[in-house]
Amino acid sequence: MPTIDNLPPLREVIETHGIAAKKSLGQNFLLDLNLTAKIARLAGDLSSSDILEVGPGPGGLTRGLLAEGARKVLAIEKDSRCMSALAEIEAAYPGKLTVLNADALELDPTAHLTHPIKVAANLPYNVGTELLVRWLTPQEWPPFWESLTLMFQREVAQRIVAQPGSKAYGRLAILSQWRADPRIVLDLSPEAFTPAPKVSSAVVHLKALPQPRFEADPDVLNKVVAAGFNQRRKMLRSALKALAPDIDDRILAAGIKPTERAEQVPIEGFCALARELAQ
Ligand code: SAM
Repeated sequence: MPTIDNLPPLREVIETHGIAAKKSLGQNFLLDLNLTAKIARLAGDLSSSDILEVGPGPGGLTRGLLAEGARKVLAIEKDSRCMSALAEIEAAYPGKLTVLNADALELDPTAHLTHPIKVAANLPYNVGTELLVRWLTPQEWPPFWESLTLMFQREVAQRIVAQPGSKAYGRLAILSQWRADPRIVLDLSPEAFTPAPKVSSAVVHLKALPQPRFEADPDVLNKVVAAGFNQRRKMLRSALKALAPDIDDRILAAGIKPTERAEQVPIEGFCALARELAQ
């Protein structure tokens, strides 16, 4: 069966270049190029943006992004075994793909990219959430990216879009919805991946808002939310008591009852509290 480009099928690529999936790098590959092209389309119009792809692996999503017309792709991959496979894609799309063999947690990609920038990634869970929080909490807003199209475990995706009062509502929901508009755009069963993980996955698309919904310092907000949800069964007055000696007064000044629990407080309340505590 012909592929979306003139390159070999991904199963063959993995075999030729010896990229057997490693658990330690969270490698669960997408081998269906029609699916990776579909995910690429979920990132929106690619033709006038640079795309940052984190964790390309053997290049399924990279090929999807390029076949769908990305202006340029910068792919950052930690596993050096993937470099020769990715070099073949680079050769098939001259001038369109740059690959860096690096840890995305340690590299600032912005020097290699031109605005507007979109991010697309299928990453291991822990790296994905760590990068998501970093991308959502820079001091300056708008950030370097216009949108993020990211694969997560379905449970994590549900946490990103969760509303106050639900069990899934917490730090990820507040940070994501404070400065962006997140939507679950695709559900995937474990069988979509090789090897199949134990859990289902989902693609989340986050569009950066021109400005945050409410004013707050990102570091203070992050700290308040982390403390509030670290002990989510407790009333806010006890969960946050280490943050200020007069925490009851600060919570009241933010328009919240000190007896409420973090999961009942909307984003606006947490931002008001962050402003109170920043004073
Ligand atoms: N994008 C490919 C796909 O969809 O088939 C691979 C997905 S696999 C779930 C995750 C990829 O991220 C692997 O190739 C892994 O080596 C890479 N990776 C893991 N940690 C990384 C890190 N800190 N920086 C860059 N890449 C990383």
